Amino acid sequence: MQSTPSIRRDPLAEFLAVRPLMILDGALATELERRGADLRDPLWSAKLLVEQPDLIGAVHRDYFEAGADLATTATYQATFEGFAARGIDASQAARLMQAAISLAGLARDQFWSEAGNRVGRRRPLIAASIGPYGAMLADGSEYRGQYRATDAELRSFHRRRLEVLVAAGADVLACETIPSLREALALVEVLAEFPMAVAWISFSCRDGEHTNEGQRIADCAAELNACGQIGALGVNCTAPTHIGSLLRHLRTRTAKPLLVYPNSGERYEASGKHWHGESGSASLAAGAGDWFEQGARLIGGCCRTTPDDIRALKTWAKSVTTPTS
Ligand SMILES: [Zn+2]
Repeated sequence: MQSTPSIRRDPLAEFLAVRPLMILDGALATELERRGADLRDPLWSAKLLVEQPDLIGAVHRDYFEAGADLATTATYQATFEGFAARGIDASQAARLMQAAISLAGLARDQFWSEAGNRVGRRRPLIAASIGPYGAMLADGSEYRGQYRATDAELRSFHRRRLEVLVAAGADVLACETIPSLREALALVEVLAEFPMAVAWISFSCRDGEHTNEGQRIADCAAELNACGQIGALGVNCTAPTHIGSLLRHLRTRTAKPLLVYPNSGERYEASGKHWHGESGSASLAAGAGDWFEQGARLIGGCCRTTPDDIRALKTWAKSVTTPTS
């Protein structure tokens, strides 16, 4: 009944076998807002899947033009539960999630069809964004963890969406802004049910050593290192100042490619759904050299970063060659 390809391909490893690093994209929501979208909504950028899908495709395109080797889809907060709260039934919700993958794929294919865009580059990948359980709650708990949900509830939450996103054909699953080791382990258990899928797991961290919930990032790496479906491990939506230290801790317990896509250093306030505070003085490009030295091989931006940040990263990356050590 099933046609089963028996070898799992890891598109991240294939890319990194021939390139010293992969440049990820930056924030989707920030760009959508800059273009006039109102995202003060529990569905966040997923809201645009319903209302203005073309806008999402245009932002993906901007990131490819800026130099991104990968697009992260608008599914971070696209969940059956979130859509249901807006009166969107399960089959329509699944169609919207699939549409998010298609939008990114179409933007990629259009970009790639122009010969000038292929010079010196590999075909960009599509990563299906998988936000944490806390992002569905839309109360900022992805920055705290401490869920009341049981392990079984976490697995069931992730299983429903993974089923759709895996079938939709993304190259990699971006499990991101994960606040706790417990949620990462729940994801790994569900991943095993989709043995051909390759994922990255990226934690949100509160300082230079701990996840937002408080586990040591080194312990997280140790627990996850044996999972063959994890193509990269790292940190996102975390202040740039913590990244170097977190990478050093991660590296002590895993040889997997490390990934980082910090936010701008501002803080998110869930009650008002806005960001405040000083934007980090260190831009992505300024930090990237150090992060690369610490083992980061996938580098991009999270909240509040823009195509300009990715363009600067791309300019920096031209000076990077594969380390000989
Ligand atoms: Zn973020």
